[in-house]
Amino acid sequence: MKSTAHLFTEQARAALADDSLQAALRRAKSGFIDKRAAAIAAFPDFDGLRERGRRIKDHTLAHLDHYLERFADAVEACGGHVHWARDADEARRAVLDICQRAQARSVIKGKTMVGEEIGINGALEQAGLEVVETDLGEYIIQLAKEPPSHIIAPAVHKTRAQICQLFAEHHGSTAALREAPELVAEARAILREKFLAADVGITGGNFLVAETGTVVLVTNEGNGDLSLTLPRVHIVLAGIEKLVPTLDDAATMVRLLARSATGQEISTYTTFVTGPRRANEPEGPDEYHVVLLDNGRARMLADEFREMLRCIRCGACLNHCPVYSAIGGHAYGWVYPGPMGSVLTPQFIGLDGTKDLPNACTLNGRCQDVCPVKIPLPGLLRRLRDLQFERRIIRGPQRWALRLWGWVARRPRLYHRLTALAARFAPRGAARRLPLDPGWTRSRDFPLPKGRTFKSAWQERQRQENGHG
Ligand code: SF4
Repeated sequence: MKSTAHLFTEQARAALADDSLQAALRRAKSGFIDKRAAAIAAFPDFDGLRERGRRIKDHTLAHLDHYLERFADAVEACGGHVHWARDADEARRAVLDICQRAQARSVIKGKTMVGEEIGINGALEQAGLEVVETDLGEYIIQLAKEPPSHIIAPAVHKTRAQICQLFAEHHGSTAALREAPELVAEARAILREKFLAADVGITGGNFLVAETGTVVLVTNEGNGDLSLTLPRVHIVLAGIEKLVPTLDDAATMVRLLARSATGQEISTYTTFVTGPRRANEPEGPDEYHVVLLDNGRARMLADEFREMLRCIRCGACLNHCPVYSAIGGHAYGWVYPGPMGSVLTPQFIGLDGTKDLPNACTLNGRCQDVCPVKIPLPGLLRRLRDLQFERRIIRGPQRWALRLWGWVARRPRLYHRLTALAARFAPRGAARRLPLDPGWTRSRDFPLPKGRTFKSAWQERQRQENGHG
């Protein structure tokens, strides 16, 4: 997918002014948050489960070469094939080769963020194949020719009226406002035909189990199961970080994922796929392929962003992020939005073209609190800001402002004197006219000084409590 992450500010401004987007975001946000909170409250020790999940992922990442080999051996032993892709180009070529060898003309797809990452739809369509998304949200945005705006709810930015309009244009149905079940039935009738006619099914994989070569696939619509069962060829697209050692570990991760993503105890369909159809089985594909994508992940393993590889793509950090909730996913300009995207996108496409992403964060820490695998997202975003400064990606007045701030902040006595002076004497509105980086206050508030600093107010309170007031 082509990146427009460098246009973050303009895209965010447009998103804030888009009334229907704002309505869709408001509706989606409370649903996700409330359901997750209820599911976690009903689980006796969710924090213990999070800790177990974190350990499983850390252990796997520490021995990833070993588990990848085990997984590949197990897949081959079951009659499947593993393809290693160093980057997006190699992954696209692997998928295209499989499709061409199978003389495929039509491909159906379950939801796969790795598919978005490597731009698989465009590559297949260019080669003359018909590609149809079968996850309802993905299907809607495919009709709208838009990228997903949320990693688990790709069409969350669309209102019902917009979907009615879209279906009317593409299906020739009525554009009148209709209820969701009617729209679902219409999409289902069209997709059924596509499922039956497809030669190849492409899905993602939520977890890859090293001991058995199993791919665990979690969906709520059953489209994943149809995509992997009906066509004669099944291709799984997954990042190398999706490994877990055992089926028990996969069970722990599935429990974390369902509760964090959609607030369910378990997703409606949790499917374990191990190889192609056996001789005694009535259904399943003749060919089974797993394309394992690196695309910068091995480099992350060895650097300070390794913890980001624990991500299980649940979307909880997006749902709890005030920035994502205000602007939606498209403003981030690439595949992965929200806090997880602001860390991942610079890893995958470079820090230069993603300058605004690490700064699109209030550092309130909510994302880290809700992350099922305890990824320290605010710390990683802060580290990216440091790197921007060190590599001179931040330039001009902003650089000088940060330098000056850093110099003063390292001298506590001077810092306290200056802040006390500013709190007492700064004229009204001075904070909005910062001389070194006026852009900083163009689109956000900077509270005016209240006449005293927090430190002096705290000291006075302590004195009063100790009876010296
Ligand atoms: S960073 Fe954590 S909360 Fe965000 S999508 Fe990944 S696992 Fe979920």
